[in-house]
Amino acid sequence: MLSLNKSDKKENFAIQILKKSDHLFFDLDHTLWDFETNAEESLLELYDHYKMDQYGKSTAQDFVNIYRKVNDSLWAKYRKHHISKQELRTSRFEISFQRMGFKPSEVPEGIWEHYIELCPTKTHLIPGAVELLDYLTPFYRLHLITNGFAETQKRKLANTGLADYFESLTISEEVGAQKPSEKIFQSALKTSGCSDKHGHYVGDHLEADVKGGLNAGWQVYWLQSAESEESFEHERLITVKSLSELKAHF
Ligand SMILES: [Mg+2]
Repeated sequence: MLSLNKSDKKENFAIQILKKSDHLFFDLDHTLWDFETNAEESLLELYDHYKMDQYGKSTAQDFVNIYRKVNDSLWAKYRKHHISKQELRTSRFEISFQRMGFKPSEVPEGIWEHYIELCPTKTHLIPGAVELLDYLTPFYRLHLITNGFAETQKRKLANTGLADYFESLTISEEVGAQKPSEKIFQSALKTSGCSDKHGHYVGDHLEADVKGGLNAGWQVYWLQSAESEESFEHERLITVKSLSELKAHF
């Protein structure tokens, strides 16, 4: 990392642009792109669109809460290669509707595809994301490492304008390995043009990001959600509760 303090950074702004050689890697979902808010907004719209209240079996908020739990548990299975991309995409809705007591005939046809279309159009970001990226851009070469589906992640980046901040994008679906696999971190280093053996990485997920990054030998910044009760310590780990708190480390 650069050793200049903040006032030096301002004075040496022009020089820094020329020697902007330090690389910084970010996760996307829950770290910059506000997955919770964007997913909730999408699910509430689908609930209204398909008039799901007509069956009297769940409220819109039940739908959001049940889907969230099901989706999280299926993503954990997908990360371990226990289910396929297609199973993940369809089962998270099938299981949610089963849990809400819907009969198969009451499940809106094609709702899983509708969600995939709709969700990446949402543009809520984690508070402080743009401010942090604007602050870092003059001094660091920024990159993304994301577990997700290429088309979806690229649409999120384009729709939010986040794409403009990043020089390289490493997506699990394209690499054929997901965080926490060391392979995706190595692939990101290669793609970024970073010549260091280990990078500096910001992410929110304890298993995928924190343990994945540390296991690959990287310095990790853990953006822990305010509600999280997880704890983990490591000499190469810095834990923060917000992106504004993270900004103070650079
Ligand atoms: Mg994440």
